[in-house]
Amino acid sequence: MTDCLFCKIAAHEIPAEIVFENDRVLAFKDINPKAPVHLLIVPKKHYATLNDIPDDEMEIIAEIHRVVKHLAREFGVADRGYRTLVNTNAEGGQVIFHVHYHLIGGRQLRA
Ligand code: 5GP
Ligand code: ZN
Repeated sequence: MTDCLFCKIAAHEIPAEIVFENDRVLAFKDINPKAPVHLLIVPKKHYATLNDIPDDEMEIIAEIHRVVKHLAREFGVADRGYRTLVNTNAEGGQVIFHVHYHLIGGRQLRA
């Protein structure tokens, strides 16, 4: 999608601190981290929200979680604990309309 911030980051048109990349998934540091570790993991293909991923393309979610698992280990939070979350639409608090998983950790998180 041409006018999407995370598509532009995925296309390397806008800089980000990229921590993982393959053909389908990109992970980069959140620009406004809520914790010592705050990464965003996105499909390179544009889906506005989780609602917009067709059932037969949901394998991308497993792949994102595989990346989350490896990044949690790499960033030293796998055993201490961390949080993954995805916000969907207005009441879910979604601000950027390109599916992204937050990986947050490195401090005690509260409910
Ligand atoms: P949402 O509320 O949509 O789930 O979260 C969007 C996240 O994207 C926020 O945590 C925000 O800090 C992050 N973000 C917004 N703009 C940029 C940007 O230009 N670069 C990076 N790396 N993160 C961004
Ligand atoms: Zn996009």
